Amino acid sequence: MDNFLALGLAAPLVSALGRIGFAKPTPIQAQAIPALLAGRDLIGVAQTGTGKTAAFALPILHRLLANPRRAPQGSARVLILSPTRELASQIAQSFRDLSQGLPLSIAVVFGGVPHGAQIKALARGLDVLVATPGRLVDHLDNGVANLRGVEYFVLDEVDQMLDLGFIKPIRRIVRDLPLKRQNLFFSATMPSDIRRLAAELLRNPIEVAVTPAAKTADRVEQRVILVDEPRKRDMLVELFKDQAMSRAIVFTRTKRGADRVAKALDEAGVDALAIHGNKSQGQRERALAAFRGGAARALVATDIAARGIDIDGVTHVVNFELPEVAEAYVHRIGRTARAGREGIAISLCAPSDRDLLRGIEKLTRLQIATVDRRGHKGPAPSPVVRKAAPPTPNRAAPRDARSRKQGAPMRASRSARRPWWAELQARAVPVV
Ligand code: ADP
Ligand code: MG
Repeated sequence: MDNFLALGLAAPLVSALGRIGFAKPTPIQAQAIPALLAGRDLIGVAQTGTGKTAAFALPILHRLLANPRRAPQGSARVLILSPTRELASQIAQSFRDLSQGLPLSIAVVFGGVPHGAQIKALARGLDVLVATPGRLVDHLDNGVANLRGVEYFVLDEVDQMLDLGFIKPIRRIVRDLPLKRQNLFFSATMPSDIRRLAAELLRNPIEVAVTPAAKTADRVEQRVILVDEPRKRDMLVELFKDQAMSRAIVFTRTKRGADRVAKALDEAGVDALAIHGNKSQGQRERALAAFRGGAARALVATDIAARGIDIDGVTHVVNFELPEVAEAYVHRIGRTARAGREGIAISLCAPSDRDLLRGIEKLTRLQIATVDRRGHKGPAPSPVVRKAAPPTPNRAAPRDARSRKQGAPMRASRSARRPWWAELQARAVPVV
């Protein structure tokens, strides 16, 4: 199935897709849409950037249109739960884009903003409600919302919702759902606790997993720079000397770290904004808009704030600190190389973070090209690629993985135009 019409979607949706410029379905869309149109429950396992939103939005919109009905007061026909406010807004926007011109009511409910407007929207009744779990539970407890009218229930980014401790509110919400409903469950990873939750909530689901070959991580050029902790900020500023790094998301582990790094970049003449959980909703939205619009070159973010954010043309993702949880690395680098484009991910790794790096290499089954910049005061004259650790012996290893065993050190560029690391052939070598 390589076009949307062949998938059986209603004409207004196909023309909306034409306007947006989606020419053909992504793999998860091609696999999920027919099953969802047929009313099946679904588990979708896919990395970020694979087009999950349209994979569920299109069939749901199709079914709403095929069976028009007044939105139930205080309730919604479609309920989508999402881990963060930004992601919730983005999902609602996708629904609006895909249903432009159609008479559907779509609203978002999340914390950090006043209740008033949300209560009003809920009272009228909605076709589509996108919510973060906490605030929705508030509205349920206050009797402002009910879930009696829900026909479609979508849990997006389930692994992240559980990481954020949303399991209790999710169970509270599920308790109020009608028994007869269609369930959609999306997660980038499927550890056993998530599988158990899916088994509880879904009925005879079909499972769709996008093939590992399509993993975002495969399209991102990945590099690691080993650097002493106190030198990280200078290193980061040096990276920004490369003008090709025109739109970069820099990840830090903590909120205070994000503020400090944004300040250091600003002081070095790089326009940077921080986004994290301690910022007000208004501040977060303004920062995102400035970054989207190109007014800021760098967005410094914590994992939670950046989850699922879809911004076009992110050239680089920089891990100022490696994440504690290896899975988060895959999500972070998925902020670049979206929708089939390429991107570069650079991780600054202090000696004390070597274990985290090993965990990431194990999870992604990649060996990331590494430059050693420890012990340097100024710009280094000739960084040397860390000799590749011998890959786990495997006869099926591709030839270039084996030839990497030789690990010939590479010389840095001496050209003034290109930064030293640009010459480093970024290679992520599969070691499976
Ligand atoms: P995910 O939820 O899997 O992280 P998104 O649904 O946010 O991914 O989609 C990632 C990007 O791909 C978005 O910019 C979206 O507009 C784009 N996209 C999705 N489906 C298509 C398609 N069929 N053709 C072109 N671009 C697409
Ligand atoms: Mg998504």
